[in-house]
Amino acid sequence: MTLDAFRNDIGSIAVEDNPKLVQKKSRDFYWYSPVLKRQLDHVTADLIVSPKSEGEVVEVLAAAHRHGIAITPRGAGTGNYGQAMPLAGGVVLNLAEMNRIIETSPVHVKAETGAILEKIDQQTRAAHGSEIRFFPSTYRTATVGGFVAGGSGGVGSIRWGGLRALGNILGLTVVTCEAVPRVLKIEGADILKVAHAYGTNGIITDVTLPLTAAYDWIDGLVGFPDVMAATRFAEALARQDGILTKEIAVVAAPVAHDYFPHYRRFFERETSLVVVIAAPHAMDALALLAAHHRGDLVYRSDTVPPEEKRQFPPVYELCWNHTTMRGLKVDPSITYLQTQYPDFEHVRRIHEMLGDEMPLHLEMIRFDGRIVFSGLPIVRFTSEERLEEIIAIHENNGCLVFNPHRYTLEEGGMKQTDAGQLAFKGEADPKGLLNPGKMVAWENPDYDFNQKRSWVFAGLQSMD
Ligand code: FAD
Repeated sequence: MTLDAFRNDIGSIAVEDNPKLVQKKSRDFYWYSPVLKRQLDHVTADLIVSPKSEGEVVEVLAAAHRHGIAITPRGAGTGNYGQAMPLAGGVVLNLAEMNRIIETSPVHVKAETGAILEKIDQQTRAAHGSEIRFFPSTYRTATVGGFVAGGSGGVGSIRWGGLRALGNILGLTVVTCEAVPRVLKIEGADILKVAHAYGTNGIITDVTLPLTAAYDWIDGLVGFPDVMAATRFAEALARQDGILTKEIAVVAAPVAHDYFPHYRRFFERETSLVVVIAAPHAMDALALLAAHHRGDLVYRSDTVPPEEKRQFPPVYELCWNHTTMRGLKVDPSITYLQTQYPDFEHVRRIHEMLGDEMPLHLEMIRFDGRIVFSGLPIVRFTSEERLEEIIAIHENNGCLVFNPHRYTLEEGGMKQTDAGQLAFKGEADPKGLLNPGKMVAWENPDYDFNQKRSWVFAGLQSMD
């Protein structure tokens, strides 16, 4: 059998074939979406293969090419769109064991793909007083390679933008899936071909990221009697050039109270929150601005006695998709969207139209040099038809939606594939074995590259 021949060829590299364990590692957080849950629940690989070095990755990819075995890479499996799910079965390539931090300096870190983001920060903080520029709220579990291949931005994106911005990834090493796999050093514009490509364009074996100065960041919560006042403050804070923040998010009432039990004692159910992370020297100015906006700084981590601190999760785990996760624990029927509102008026209009059917959750970020309202609103899900209507309401009112209920690169609206991307895939994966089913442009020769829509990772055309 082909799979047996493949196993035979990869010799002593660790393989798992226990169906229960294989199924467990064939999943990510796709179930956040009722649509993806329906579509992907049955998906499973045949084998999990866990290389420990770049050499072993080369061996696995050569054998996959020889025997026509599909390979779906996986870091920690915290992606939200079925990115790491093996639609065509075959092998899940578990890269978590390639987790060495290769080199560091005050301004950069080079780490193997499976290194956990928090571990990287711990090491660079201790060695140089430096930290990575931004991280997903899955900081404590996600791998650096998984973040680059499947993520977009997160805590720190208010200062540094996202992975899409030039300069936020310095270099990658990628192994191709060919008869004799090549090990490519990817730099400059070529990084855009591999970043956020779900591993369809090669297997990343290491990542080099730039660092920035580390601070003893302070967590804070600012309460407001209504969500639009909270949004006004969040925008004003985001625009303050002299207040160094790492995170600014708005979470509307009543979900802040309902979903954040650890912090509930500090505010009423009617309170909408602005969750902030700021540098210690910025806290006085932040408090001043909050008072000016009639906000109530109800919690700051630097005033909590050390023995009490352990009961509070870091506030970044109230933000990004952790807000949704905390919501799902309280009410499994909810879901979410990924949106972008160009300005305050757009947020207000959508909130007036949808009210508590879509409690607001906004993340303030830099996007192409501007401060924008990135939305991860909670949706009180009733049906797939209504979800589509809510998406249409956004689009008809000039707001972007990056649909988290789609598993292909293009349909989610995150990654624009273009002719250059496709040509690179042709070279790096001529048999189309890497994460099959995720790149529409590869599967469909009639794919229209010139769709009039907005993308988070827009490709090289957008550099002008
Ligand atoms: P995985 O989920 O294992 O993989 C992600 C994608 O990359 C998959 O397509 C996989 O096939 C591919 N891949 C993995 N490793 C490689 C490799 N070595 N070479 C090629 N391809 C590879 N995302 C954000 O961007 N920002 C957030 O703030 C954020 N918050 C989240 C909060 C929660 C609660 C959850 C569940 C998810 C969140 N995510 C967020 C999504 C996800 O956690 C991040 O993108 C994370 O960085 C993914 O890392 P991972 O190691 O889990 O990758």
